Amino acid sequence: MAVKKAAYEFTQTELLPGVIERDINQEFPKQQVKKMGELGFLGMMVDPKYGGGGMDTVSYVLAIEEISKVDASASVIMSVNNSLVCSGLEKYGTDEQKEKYLTRLAPGKIIGAFCLSEPEAGSDATSQRTIAEDKGDYYLLNGTKNWITNGNSASVYLVIAQTDPKKKHLGINALIVEREMAGLEVGKKEDKLGIRGSDTHSLMFTDVKVPKENRIGEDGFGFKFAMDTLNGGRIGIASQALGIASGAYERALAYSKERKAFGVEISKHQAIQFKLADMATEIEAARLLCLRAATEKDHKKDFAKTSAMAKLFASQVAMDVTIEAVQIHGGYGYVKEYHVERLMRDAKITQIYEGTSEIQKIVISRELIKL
Ligand SMILES: Cc1cc2nc3c(=O)[nH]c(=O)nc-3n(C[C@H](O)[C@H](O)[C@H](O)COP(=O)(O)OP(=O)(O)OC[C@H]3O[C@@H](n4cnc5c(N)ncnc54)[C@H](O)[C@@H]3O)c2cc1C
Repeated sequence: MAVKKAAYEFTQTELLPGVIERDINQEFPKQQVKKMGELGFLGMMVDPKYGGGGMDTVSYVLAIEEISKVDASASVIMSVNNSLVCSGLEKYGTDEQKEKYLTRLAPGKIIGAFCLSEPEAGSDATSQRTIAEDKGDYYLLNGTKNWITNGNSASVYLVIAQTDPKKKHLGINALIVEREMAGLEVGKKEDKLGIRGSDTHSLMFTDVKVPKENRIGEDGFGFKFAMDTLNGGRIGIASQALGIASGAYERALAYSKERKAFGVEISKHQAIQFKLADMATEIEAARLLCLRAATEKDHKKDFAKTSAMAKLFASQVAMDVTIEAVQIHGGYGYVKEYHVERLMRDAKITQIYEGTSEIQKIVISRELIKL
């Protein structure tokens, strides 16, 4: 609970002021991200010997929920650095890679990005067109990645690329690419519906020489690395969806007790009460799924099915609840100063990234059939 309190205080002092303006101006929360690093929110689950917080996944869920209530742009920056970059490196990186990169990523001295999606490879992540040609002691990297969160702010990119197309997904590698490496170009910033404070960019790689020691795992391990890392990432995005929903619900509840219509607070109208009841019930169910996935991960159980269920369910809850929160606010819900319209726009992405809802159903049903 101390972590929840710390996250709450951080949102009130650092994130809430200016969140509307950052959304309007698509402004990356640079100072706030720096502070998140100082407070230990960017490498929460990493071993303290690498500069991390040494916490469990349950604490991570609590922190992400709290931060997403106020600023979902900040929480996706946090989720990517924690679950996709730090966790992947800590689990599969060499000692040298951890020493060189994780010790700076975990305390947030630098941030990282995870680069899987391409113009022609989204849900079907096996059809990688980015090529990492084996040149002996280095890979020659050529191709384009799309939609990369932290695209322009990251110092380190984990890039998934095809080395041997004949081997299909078994010929894919994961490489650590540094921002400074010659041949890496950051493309334009995407102008998005929601999470507008996060910077989403395409990346172009032209003859980038990546030393062999920057490969994560054995030759051909890249696809397994990406899928395994995304299983953990989904807990972060599910918790982000949960936070967006609870942030909107809390605002709607408070508003319903203040706003009067027909001589009484609107919370006295049963139609509003039933909306609040549905919202609170859905949120509680989403929270339990997030915590269950986190607990399974902490107990080293197979959490692939539960994390997909948590993301599928919580992201739908985020959509349902934010739409109702706008409705409860009436016309005021449709303007920026009441925050709920932003939360409604932010909610949508949770059904798309780190595997769309349709892909979550594929993951879940695959696991069910396997049982
Ligand atoms: C803001 C933002 C941030 C992102 N951040 C990152 C990032 O940091 N790193 C990264 O690598 N990627 C990132 N992504 C990419 C994201 O993960 C992909 O957009 C997502 O996986 C979907 O891929 P796609 O857009 O190519 O859609 P497509 O794969 O083309 O899918 C289009 C539609 O078809 C459906 N569909 C596809 N295949 C099937 C199927 N077999 N069965 C049923 N339905 C199917 C999908 O569910 C979807 O509804 C980000 C995207 C956005 C918008």
